[in-house]
Amino acid sequence: MTDGPIAQSASDKPIAGQVSPTSFQGVASRYEVVVPRPADGSTRARLGRLTLTHGVVETPQFMPVGTNATVKALDPDDIAATGATIILSNTYHLYLRPGHERIARLGGLHTFMAWDRPILTDSGGFQVVSLGDLRVVDDDGVTFRSHLDGTLHRFTPEVAIGVQEALGADIAVAFDQPVTPTSPRAVVTDATERTHRWAERSLAAHTRTDQALFGIVQGGIEPDLRAASTEFIASLPFDGICLGGLAGDETPAQRDATLDIAVPLLAADPRPRYLMGLGSPADLLEAVHRGVDLFDSVLPARVARNGQLWVPGGRLNLRNQRFLDDPGPVQEDCPCLLCRRFSRAYIAHLFRANELLAYRLATCHNLTFTLDFMDRIRMSIRSGTFPADMPELRLRAGREIGSEGAEKSA
Ligand SMILES: [Zn+2]
Repeated sequence: MTDGPIAQSASDKPIAGQVSPTSFQGVASRYEVVVPRPADGSTRARLGRLTLTHGVVETPQFMPVGTNATVKALDPDDIAATGATIILSNTYHLYLRPGHERIARLGGLHTFMAWDRPILTDSGGFQVVSLGDLRVVDDDGVTFRSHLDGTLHRFTPEVAIGVQEALGADIAVAFDQPVTPTSPRAVVTDATERTHRWAERSLAAHTRTDQALFGIVQGGIEPDLRAASTEFIASLPFDGICLGGLAGDETPAQRDATLDIAVPLLAADPRPRYLMGLGSPADLLEAVHRGVDLFDSVLPARVARNGQLWVPGGRLNLRNQRFLDDPGPVQEDCPCLLCRRFSRAYIAHLFRANELLAYRLATCHNLTFTLDFMDRIRMSIRSGTFPADMPELRLRAGREIGSEGAEKSA
């Protein structure tokens, strides 16, 4: 983690006489910067409002992940009660099962999963490229075998966009070739150039006028490649800019440095910036400070299903025997389904008995904690006290960086 003011760069400084635009109007979306980053350069954090076909999303914001058209263990009412206003669903998984054409016949993804608020679908690039031995990348697309039944499939930018148009999310994402952040330079170069060609093809293929389309910046953690990719993707008429190829095996310092290269290049660009795959509260806070507006991750829900509950200052491991006799709530002031009605003793028992309710209650809590944390960040930006509030927010986040942070008992 890095403390103190963010690194400044030449492109970060306002140009004399030039007023940065504070809103972006796309065909299917609108983004307004409600509170811009302060002129003193103390932070790049900003407050925004993203208007989509199915509703408004306040930023900075976190998107829970509903891989198979469900946020695991939750129904739509549970999801809404956590404070979520937008969720992410995975194109690759829905293409394979139950099939995007079937979902389209059944009225589209919103109707299918009975979620009437905004949805973003990813491009499938991350999943098909992550299949390792099961896939072959060429300049036209990716051939891969299904992880479900081994059948052979092929994604091109045109296929990925077609699948996302059939699903009908509020936001679709251009097809890209992500690589592990610390990949060799030649690998990053090759994938980044291909991602640029696929970005143009994704734009050309996209036709839905009720669906926004975001482009993806790659470039790994190589400063020049990241800068060039940021400038290239930002030059295209996307409705938002995804910062891809992070939240992987890079260190927090490498991620911060990469954001300090990419985000200043977007200083005069009012479109929303989305860092894909980041999920721990501490990581979210640092990335907001560096100017990121949107996030998604399976992390809060995944660690919840493992019996790890996030509370102010750290996390509780419900597998710990001492909770079996603890009559108090997991978190005193938490409005979630778990904390309102049940004790630590009860949820600890449910986990030990492998009862299904444990997954639902624990997921409700961790998502509520995460979305409440984003709300606190937004309030701080709105009141003009961010980044002065960062030490307190870091304390609340438990200073846990990444998914492998040290456990701290309450
Ligand atoms: Zn709770």
